[in-house]
Amino acid sequence: MATPKPSSDEPLQCPRCVKKMRKQRHVRAVIDHCDECEGNFFDEGEMLAVLGKSADPEVWARSNRQLTPSPSQLRCPRCHTRMHLQPLNEETVDVDIDLCPGCGGIWLDGGEVDAVMRIGARKLAVKAAEARNSRKDTAPELIGRYLSLFPKK
Ligand SMILES: [Zn+2]
Ligand SMILES: [Zn+2]
Repeated sequence: MATPKPSSDEPLQCPRCVKKMRKQRHVRAVIDHCDECEGNFFDEGEMLAVLGKSADPEVWARSNRQLTPSPSQLRCPRCHTRMHLQPLNEETVDVDIDLCPGCGGIWLDGGEVDAVMRIGARKLAVKAAEARNSRKDTAPELIGRYLSLFPKK
């Protein structure tokens, strides 16, 4: 990778519309937002910083390891590496997000932020239930509570 990364103050180009994106300042990070397609680019760690625990890639990416990423149409606006399309799903929420294998950036199309947040919140609930389960002996009411997180289709 000989090309230097643009500094984070430089406006990035939307990978979909090829327009300059707008810097959206948040308390703990600066997100690049496209006014045209409502897409957002998050540098590594920025989703967690801005959106909180539910948006921590650690939460949803790990448990989705069985879903193999495929090459995306998009190139990373930060480092221009071809991004990977990572399928995420949880119950009724189903979304493909673009991850950059080069810099760890994440591209979310308009609306995908919501979907990812819902998936993250769900995963956290399941994780919490698992933690409760492993702490105590498998008391029947705990198993019931755990199973109730997976309503029958
Ligand atoms: Zn755009
Ligand atoms: Zn990148």
